Amino acid sequence: MLKNIPKVDKVLEWPAVKVLLGDYPRPVLVKAVRAVLAAVRGELMAGEAGHEALTESGVAERVRRELAAAGAFSLKRVVNGTGVVIHTNLGRSPLPETVRQTLLDVAFGYSNLEFDLERGERGSRYSHVERLLCELTGAEAALVVNNNAAAVLLALSALAAGREAVVSRGELVEIGGSFRIPDVMRQSGAILREVGATNRTHPRDYRNAVTPETGLLLKVHTSNFALVGFTSEVTAHELVDIGREFSLPVMADVGSGNLVDLARILGGGEPTVQEFVRAGVDVVTFSGDKLLGGPQAGIIVGRKNWLELMKKHPLLRAVRIDKLTLAALEGTLRLYRDERQALAEIPTLRMLAATAPELAARGRKLLRRLRRAVPATVSLTLVDGTSQVGGGALPLLELPTSLISVEVAGVSAQKLEVMLRRRDVPVVGRIWKERFLLDLRTIMDDDLPLLLSALSSLGK
Ligand SMILES: *Cc1c(COP(=O)(O)O)cnc(C)c1O
Repeated sequence: MLKNIPKVDKVLEWPAVKVLLGDYPRPVLVKAVRAVLAAVRGELMAGEAGHEALTESGVAERVRRELAAAGAFSLKRVVNGTGVVIHTNLGRSPLPETVRQTLLDVAFGYSNLEFDLERGERGSRYSHVERLLCELTGAEAALVVNNNAAAVLLALSALAAGREAVVSRGELVEIGGSFRIPDVMRQSGAILREVGATNRTHPRDYRNAVTPETGLLLKVHTSNFALVGFTSEVTAHELVDIGREFSLPVMADVGSGNLVDLARILGGGEPTVQEFVRAGVDVVTFSGDKLLGGPQAGIIVGRKNWLELMKKHPLLRAVRIDKLTLAALEGTLRLYRDERQALAEIPTLRMLAATAPELAARGRKLLRRLRRAVPATVSLTLVDGTSQVGGGALPLLELPTSLISVEVAGVSAQKLEVMLRRRDVPVVGRIWKERFLLDLRTIMDDDLPLLLSALSSLGK
């Protein structure tokens, strides 16, 4: 059978393949033919090749699919049916619609990124969001960079390089593998001075650790885990008191950085950025694309004198924010001027705030439409479950939700998961007790046509 595999040159002469030269350059076509023949060889050896494998029409069809796949964008939209709202692997927060036009205008035209239109001279890219951030958080100054990891690195480099930064042992967190506080600290040149025990740290631990070498007191939000039981942490207020006592700056990496009090809405929340600023913390850093619901960014707010050091630091240029991000961030932040508008327009907040009855009602409506479109072998039912916040925020919070359970006669949940995940517009869900589930919380309104086409392709 292997001897029957034709040579690449021969396949290129087949009319059904040769016509593709009208649409693709020769080297691209050659590469696709090679890939298909290699795949056929593998299938023949595994005894998996069908009778079509070596026919002209069979090979030509696969070459066409190979070319289409190779020409498609690698980064693309997916339907998030996982129920994890801030899903780092799926791009964290979808942006609010209100930023769409500005984002496009700034992307496809010139902008006043670093041009002061009032004075007609060079301006600062940071000026577009600084006043807004100060207004929203109550801080004196603000700066934005590429992401929160960069914000922490810049702040530590500017405030504590060559000096000791004091941090509680219980707060030496790892966020998603590649971000670890001790590693970032080493990279910044600051010397880590751990205090307290894993479960308990007291104000006296910080006081006793202060020496002439100390440059900074640091507090890190334990984003993705919770310390329960016999625990005690030093509050931002207490840390600020110690900082004043020894004339040391106090910094807090608060991770998610929510600007609205989510406890009222979700029944579980984290302190807001405003609370840290009000407590007198000198430098607060947080992410743009976690609970804030904006683009990937790192936001730094705090006292003017400390932020001045960061604005002059050479690292700032290496972690600077891009104009598209700035456009999206300014648009997202503007919504926070009116909390009701933020909750209504920012997808991340809207999804988090959705109640179980709302999601069930949406599910019933959607199911009626879907059932009309899918083949008879596909069975769709609504089940109850829980969704997660994700993004290392509120790890213990379970949000009651409604999910669509998809079952297809003769097809396992694992197989369904693969079929839906590998589509042109992939649909990502989760498997629970041999069922493939799609959580309505994270399915967006404009996902519906995509979902409809994906589910109606099943069971055929
Ligand atoms: C998420 C997080 C970070 C990293 O933020 P990115 O925006 O992902 O770079 C840093 N610190 C804490 C406490 C976090 O929760």
